[in-house]
Amino acid sequence: MTFSYTELGWSDFFDAQQQELARPDWSAARVCVARRGGCVVMSPAGSTTATFSGRLRHNSPKASDLPAVGDWVAMDARGVIHHRYERRTRFARQAPSGRGVQVIAVNVDVVFVVTSLNRDLNMRRLERYVAAVWDAGAQPIVVLNKADLCENAEQLAETVRASLLGVEVRLASAKAGQLDELRGDVGEGRSIALVGSSGVGKSTIVNALLGDETQAVADIRDADAKGRHTTTHRELFVLPGGRGLLIDTPGMRELQLDAASEAVQETFEEIATLGETCRFRDCTHSGEPGCQVVGAVDPARLASWHKLQAEIEAKERRETPEAQRKFERAFARVIDDAKRIKEDGTQS
Ligand code: GDP
Repeated sequence: MTFSYTELGWSDFFDAQQQELARPDWSAARVCVARRGGCVVMSPAGSTTATFSGRLRHNSPKASDLPAVGDWVAMDARGVIHHRYERRTRFARQAPSGRGVQVIAVNVDVVFVVTSLNRDLNMRRLERYVAAVWDAGAQPIVVLNKADLCENAEQLAETVRASLLGVEVRLASAKAGQLDELRGDVGEGRSIALVGSSGVGKSTIVNALLGDETQAVADIRDADAKGRHTTTHRELFVLPGGRGLLIDTPGMRELQLDAASEAVQETFEEIATLGETCRFRDCTHSGEPGCQVVGAVDPARLASWHKLQAEIEAKERRETPEAQRKFERAFARVIDDAKRIKEDGTQS
């Protein structure tokens, strides 16, 4: 099955770039799977594997510059990619090695932040994900999956809604195929990435939305001969009939944020707003005189905010190997800490 450019997510944003590129001998295609040496791409001509040209490698000094899943690229008739189009949105995290940035998905409109309504529900982690999605330029939608395992699912959804102001929150039971609340979010040409811890049900959601008509992914999957889709790598799928695009990602233990970001301010809006009225402009909300934040905001949220700040500061300092090691140790501590407040998060 093949899809039109519109169904694959092409828009004016890329059209303008194509005009500027002025290479009628190159055609545009979208990256479905990105590997070290090349990609699986999809275009109205079908899906195929493609390699990177020397010029593209030369123009991509960092690994994060090379085509990633969701990217639009320009390739020649021999299947060589010469150019990567400018990205509209970019969802990235600090690479687990601590060195550089790892691109998770690009050119996505929406990111489903998936969590399950059992022990996985952790407000602090949701806040981090949501902040990172705003930072990427995309819209976060929180999906509370495994609603069937939870007696007070509706009530929990309300609590999450109240806590994450301005963020859409949906309930789902993917295993039973109950995804009604998500159906309005998918649409022609709209790209949605799914993120969240391993085991929350991302693959089940993708499979349920793909339904039985998985011809769109058959070509790619033939290569690894897998019956059903399980997430071992990032991959872009087109919904039957070109009704939208999904990018599944493997579970991430924890999200390391990309830089001091305005998005953090946005997620912790009350801290940012109150912080403006503190006596000192550079108030760190750690007990300075005239601080308007301490005592006024939820202590758990403030602690979460402090951790983010510490992470960001540590990241900025780690130029030497010694600083790098220090960062890794500090980061491990933050993760341990986050685990410890998990129970509290469940109740908030
Ligand atoms: P992923 O690692 O996030 O891709 O998670 P999977 O999709 O592989 O799902 C992990 C497990 O949770 C599987 O055993 C699924 O059958 C199960 N699961 C997924 N969705 C639901 C749901 O809505 N309800 C219940 N009870 N189990 C689910």
